[in-house]
Amino acid sequence: MAKQEDVFKKLISHAKEYGFIFPSSEIYDGLSAIYDYGQNGAELKNNIKQYWWKAMVQLNDNIVGIDSAIFMHPTIWKASGHVDAFNDPLIDNKDSKKRFRADVLIEDYCAKLEEKAQKEIEKAAKRFGDAFDKNEFENTNPRVLEYREKQKTILSRMAQSLEKEDLADVKALIEELEIADPDTGSKNWTDVRQFNLMFGTKLGASADTATDLYLRPETAQGIFVNFLNVQKTSRQKLPFGIAQIGKAFRNEIVARQFIFRMREFEQMEMQYFVPPGTELGFYETWKEKRLNWHLALGLGAENYKFHDHEKLAHYANAAADIEFKFPFGFKELEGIHSRTDFDLSAHEKHSGRKLQYFDAERNENYVPYVVETSVGLDRLFLAIFSNSLKDEVLEDGSERTVLSLPPALAPVKAAILPLMKKDGLGEYGEKIFNDLKYDFNMIYEDKDSIGKRYRRQDAIGTPFCITIDHDSLTDNTVTLRDRDTMKQERVAVADLRRIIDEKTNFRNLLSKI
Ligand code: ATP
Repeated sequence: MAKQEDVFKKLISHAKEYGFIFPSSEIYDGLSAIYDYGQNGAELKNNIKQYWWKAMVQLNDNIVGIDSAIFMHPTIWKASGHVDAFNDPLIDNKDSKKRFRADVLIEDYCAKLEEKAQKEIEKAAKRFGDAFDKNEFENTNPRVLEYREKQKTILSRMAQSLEKEDLADVKALIEELEIADPDTGSKNWTDVRQFNLMFGTKLGASADTATDLYLRPETAQGIFVNFLNVQKTSRQKLPFGIAQIGKAFRNEIVARQFIFRMREFEQMEMQYFVPPGTELGFYETWKEKRLNWHLALGLGAENYKFHDHEKLAHYANAAADIEFKFPFGFKELEGIHSRTDFDLSAHEKHSGRKLQYFDAERNENYVPYVVETSVGLDRLFLAIFSNSLKDEVLEDGSERTVLSLPPALAPVKAAILPLMKKDGLGEYGEKIFNDLKYDFNMIYEDKDSIGKRYRRQDAIGTPFCITIDHDSLTDNTVTLRDRDTMKQERVAVADLRRIIDEKTNFRNLLSKI
């Protein structure tokens, strides 16, 4: 088995074993691409939400947050284009009976070409050593140029065919490139069909009066339809933003990468309303701001890259993804889109209501333009979790698994570990616990050897372990163990709140943005 797959398997089993993520409905054998967050997962997820909310809403006096309903009027999805165009091209393999996204099969083929190009570059870098000029090599080496040209031709043909809804050509492309089912090698494909990703449901008690509804496939529309409500009641002037965190639902064709692609997931979206003509400047600013927000987590700048879209969605005049290096390669983590006035104008048309802003400086009414930032909470969780999970060999040759989460995001900030329950150590520990619990999420544990308890806290990413021994009872000091350095120091109980706060406060992240 490939090493990458091993790493991913370990990650999934660690997430389950330590109460982060469970398959949904597991005792009924699960439900495909649906997951539940356990006691530690829910804490980590809440902390990620807080980091986003504080950065977007709390730190910006011109961004406010809302919480709109999942069910919305069905015409909203007609106006937004989701009823007609929220489709993915699907293809089945007749032999393996497996279903794939036709565009993803082609994109994966191109990713392999890019890998070949990268190998050529790496080989040359080794050969030439310090004298290597990567830029020049990339621009002149015939093999690299050929791999890149081929990718461009393939992707632009696919984009054109999808644009024209020429699904026969998408299939022809798959056949010409001799793309096979990655698991079985079979090239026996069905035709390509469009598949709408929205989940339908019904509102109403009796079958004949019930209305067809959709579970929202994105949270953004809840913001658009509330644009005027929020603008008027908050008295915001353009530019201003509306932020929201909430569930979204997509009937994904292929969902095989754990919480990377789920059918029920959470989005954290912000729509920034700006005067027409200024949107591309704000688009650049938000690209940079959002990347900095990610970088402040300290997962390594080399793990992020921008992917500017060549083919734009019907509503956009610029779009880019922030990609992250997941265990299965660089993939989209967040989208930043300049959505023009498409959504507000479409809602004006379909609702018959004006969704305009009076700009006192320009002395005119207009439909604002929108720059959107949209990040998947679960994907972010996976990015942080996968990057933080490490196996370490210690100086004495033993091993430990540690989840080196950014301390502000850790589910538990400190664990209170009396060496034993008796002799008053347990009571002393409970006293510290009861004092600090108002400020931090804590754990109290007095079972098992101290070594085992340290390992359990390392595995869930607890930044501090606080050990209580007999001396504590007389001198009011405890041993404080740091998760990352494993260093232990004697500190006064009276200093604990300050020390834990210094390390785990959100300010540490927010001040770096
Ligand atoms: P993809 O190309 O991976 O399907 P997308 O371009 O359709 O994603 P957007 O519509 O831009 O995604 O949604 C914004 C964000 O929501 C994405 O960047 C991603 O983080 C998250 N997201 C989208 N679909 C899913 C999903 N099925 N499961 C988990 N997160 C998702």
